[in-house]
Amino acid sequence: MTTKYRACNLCEAICGLEIELEGDKVISIRGDAADPFSKGHICPKATALGDMYTDPNRLRTPIQRTATGWESISWQTAFDEVASKLSTIKARDGANAIAFFIGNPAVHNSGTLLSMPSLMRAVGSSNRYSATSVDQLPQQVMSGLMLGNPNLLPVPDLSRTKYWLILGANPLASNGSLMTAPGVKDHLKNIQTRGGKVVVIDPRRTETAKVATEHVFIRPSTDAFLLLAMIHVLFAENLVKMGKLEHFTDGLEEIRTAVKHFTPERVAKKTGIASEDIKRITREFSSAESAVAYGRIGLSIQKFGAVCQWLVYALNMLTGNFDRAGGMMLPSPAFETVRSKGDWLFGRSHTRVRGLPETNGEFPVAALAEEILTEGQDQVRAFVITCGNPVLSTPNGTKLETALESLEFMVAIDPYITETTRHAHIILPPAMGLETNHYDVTFLSLAVQNYAKYSQATIPKAENAMYDWEIIGELAQRMGGDAPRDPAEIIDAGLKRGRYQLSLEQLKANPHGIDLGALTEQFPERIQNPEKRIRLAPSLVLSDLERLENDLETKNEGYILIGRRELRSNNSWMHHVNRLNRDQPRCTAILHPEDAKTLGATNGTNLRISSRVGSVTIPLEISADMARGVISIPHGYGHATRNDVANHAKGVSINDLTDELELDISGNAALNGTRVTIALA
Ligand code: SF4
Repeated sequence: MTTKYRACNLCEAICGLEIELEGDKVISIRGDAADPFSKGHICPKATALGDMYTDPNRLRTPIQRTATGWESISWQTAFDEVASKLSTIKARDGANAIAFFIGNPAVHNSGTLLSMPSLMRAVGSSNRYSATSVDQLPQQVMSGLMLGNPNLLPVPDLSRTKYWLILGANPLASNGSLMTAPGVKDHLKNIQTRGGKVVVIDPRRTETAKVATEHVFIRPSTDAFLLLAMIHVLFAENLVKMGKLEHFTDGLEEIRTAVKHFTPERVAKKTGIASEDIKRITREFSSAESAVAYGRIGLSIQKFGAVCQWLVYALNMLTGNFDRAGGMMLPSPAFETVRSKGDWLFGRSHTRVRGLPETNGEFPVAALAEEILTEGQDQVRAFVITCGNPVLSTPNGTKLETALESLEFMVAIDPYITETTRHAHIILPPAMGLETNHYDVTFLSLAVQNYAKYSQATIPKAENAMYDWEIIGELAQRMGGDAPRDPAEIIDAGLKRGRYQLSLEQLKANPHGIDLGALTEQFPERIQNPEKRIRLAPSLVLSDLERLENDLETKNEGYILIGRRELRSNNSWMHHVNRLNRDQPRCTAILHPEDAKTLGATNGTNLRISSRVGSVTIPLEISADMARGVISIPHGYGHATRNDVANHAKGVSINDLTDELELDISGNAALNGTRVTIALA
């Protein structure tokens, strides 16, 4: 028996794992109590990590789709075929005829993350998409416009805050998002134990809301109105106190004018929150010894996502809770990913068909299907995808599926045949998880405590297997780019250049990770705007206030659809892992008891839910945890109706209802807030 240590790379919490092995066989996976960051915390998903090595559904060799089904092929044949197809299409139709999609697990795999840019450079296409525009784009756009870099993402200083206001986030299920915080439940408890308060604003009494000090129901997609009213109260009651930010922030008068008409009384009906509660929460927040507002995916995937994220930043800044202990602070990672590139611009180019704006070199994924289906110069003919399942994770998945089926060529770098990769002509499966070395480039930059850790492969990859960076590097080289480069070299060089001047050898010698201390104040030095000042009132969001004003007058009517995340679900994958899904069906539609009564439905009744783009049939789960008039379906399911290969848990895709035409101004899909009708199936 041997014991090895590494970080779990399934989600953003990057928990330390203690893994017992007999030879190369995983005997047990536990939390690593000696990890100074996660301190032994894990969730049920970690124990399923070991199951992937014996998973019969996992691909072990490249496969090619033929008229008679999938056939195994050699790596050599696969690379020859992929390079030949991509080169032919590029020569004939131009580089933009080849589109890329990078899914969420890419940021959890340093091999993919660090090698994909070289492949995209070698192909030279500007048709690039990722999971960013169904998740976090509004926050990145606001970081770009306010702080000068879309990758400069501050996080709540959970260890010191006395008041945590959580909007549109459920960290007890997500384990933190754009905030690396393993064991977040302990943080919630500790805040309350030290006399602080945790307030959750959400249309559902979530797992987090149940252990918070207070939960306030809100109508879906109205958070922007609540936040505008809160900032209105700050100005109306002379509660603005920016502290040191006063000396390097522009736009105070513009934001004062912007919120002038959004009084708590005007937004109360729209939000479903009484004006006195809006005032009380604002006063509590501004008078707390320290406070932090944190708005996550529920705020970003709605039609006013950018305005919401702007106002979350503004609320922290105007109350002096930005870049100070207990407020919203920037981590200081050992491997720095944020570099100044001059004045950051939003929307430097636009999509061909709908004219949607580019951010950070990517287009909104809601445009992908039409870019494939619409004829003309630069029409997408070939598709390269890694780590993603956009048929289930992006709006109007049915339309995207039709589009993928029409492609001349598609290649997927993925260990599974999924609802998306089944449309590929060739699938290249990489070694994964415990078989790989890993340094969490992204999430160590979002950690609520400065920390560094390198994970060495726990078990060897199979003899014929290839790492992600080897596959991607081989393709890049065949498309005229650089030779594959081991990510370990890149990480070592980055660590040595970094602020702590660490090295890979030092991290290898500390397998539990190295504590680099509490978050520290960074401003104004780390502001990336050329003038070194925060821009509090960007014109992009000010110009969206007219749309908000019009929406305020729109009546709340019909049912509104929202998503939800579950602890035992990992977005669109791992649903087939028996130990995570054996006890109960998790893909249910949750409705308030009064709404269920109106429909004449009981627990388990099949409901037919319909929107502009489609319909699904799903069993009802009645719960008083849901606000009236709101229906919730978890995201990532939909295997039962599509995947004829893997033995997945049943379920329907919420994105067969969400609408690719409903977007925030940032280009992020408004996956929450779809109007639906409900009938008995
Ligand atoms: S919380 Fe995330 S990182 Fe931690 S064990 Fe679970 S899946 Fe892994």
